[in-house]
Amino acid sequence: MTVPTIQLNDGHHIPQLGFGVFRVDPAETERIVTDALEAGYRHIDTAAIYGNEQGVGAAIAKSGIPRDELFITTKLWNADQGTQSAFDAIDLSLEKLGLDRVDLYLIHWPRPDLDKYLESWLALEQIQADGKATSIGVSNFHVPHLERLAAGSSTVPAVNQVELHPTFQQRELRAYGAEHGIAIEAWGPLGQGKYDLFGLSAIRDAASAHGVTPAQVVIRWHLQSGIVVFPKSNSAERMRENFDVFGFELTAEQMAAIDALDAGNRVGSDPDTATF
Ligand code: NDP
Repeated sequence: MTVPTIQLNDGHHIPQLGFGVFRVDPAETERIVTDALEAGYRHIDTAAIYGNEQGVGAAIAKSGIPRDELFITTKLWNADQGTQSAFDAIDLSLEKLGLDRVDLYLIHWPRPDLDKYLESWLALEQIQADGKATSIGVSNFHVPHLERLAAGSSTVPAVNQVELHPTFQQRELRAYGAEHGIAIEAWGPLGQGKYDLFGLSAIRDAASAHGVTPAQVVIRWHLQSGIVVFPKSNSAERMRENFDVFGFELTAEQMAAIDALDAGNRVGSDPDTATF
C-alpha cells in the first residue's frame, strides 16, 4: 500500500499516515518500530524528550529500508530552545537516530514564557540550510506564535503539529494553516484513549456501515480532512489495523456527523500556559 503524501510549502512531500512513539518505552522502541516498519509505516514521529530516538534509529538501521523511503521527524525540546542549544540538540538527535538528516525538525512547544521560540526558529532555519533537517516546522503553536514567526523570519513553518481529534478539532489553527500553507499534523489523533471517542454514535455507526473499527474511522476522518496523522500503538495487531484504512471512504454525511463532534475536549496541555 502506498500512503498518500501531502506537498509541504517547501516542495517536499510528507506521507499522510505515520507512526508516533510518544510514551513508547525506550527499551521496547526498537522492537515496536520494527513491527511498525513491517506493518508498512514509513513515517515515524519521535522527539528528543521521548528518550527513544536511539531505538527508532536502531530499528531503521536494522530494517535495511532505503533512507529516501523513510520520513523521520524529531523535535527540539523546550529546555534546548535558543541558538547554540538548538544546534547542539539537533546534532545529538541525529547521533541517537544514526542519521545525517531528519526529514522534519519541529520546535516542540512555543513556551511563550521563555520568550525564545523566535530565536529557536531562526536556529531551525540555519539547521535546514546546513542540510540537517529537510523541512522545519513547529508544534503546539497558536496563531499569535505563528504571527510572531511570520513577522520575525522569512520562512513559514512547513507544519504545525497540534492536538487534534474529533472532539478537539482546532478549526482556527486549521484555517490559519490553510491560508498560510502550513500543513496540520494531528497529535493524540485517537484522543489518547482519554475520551470514549470510539463509543460516540457518529463514529460507531460509520464503523458498522463500513465493517471497520471505530479507530479506523477516526484515522480515515483525519486523512479525508487533509490532516497528517500518526497514531501510536504498542500492539502489532493495532498498528496493522491503524494502517489498513485505504480500502473504504467515509461519505460526506459520515464526515459531517464526525465534524459535528467538536467539543473542546483537550487531552493535553494548553500551549499558552504550559511550563514544563
Ligand atoms: P493516540 O491518540 O495515537 O493514542 C494512542 C493510544 O490509543 C494508546 O493508548 C494506544 O494503545 C491506543 N490505540 C492505538 N490504536 C488503537 C486501536 N486501533 N484501537 C484502540 N486503541 C488504540 O495518542 P498519542 O499521544 O500517542 O499521539 C500520537 C503521536 O503524536 C505520538 O505518539 C507522538 O508521536 C505525537 N505526539 C506529539 C505531541 C506534541 O506535543 N507534539 C504530544 C503527544 C503526542 P496501545 O498502545 O495499547 O495500542
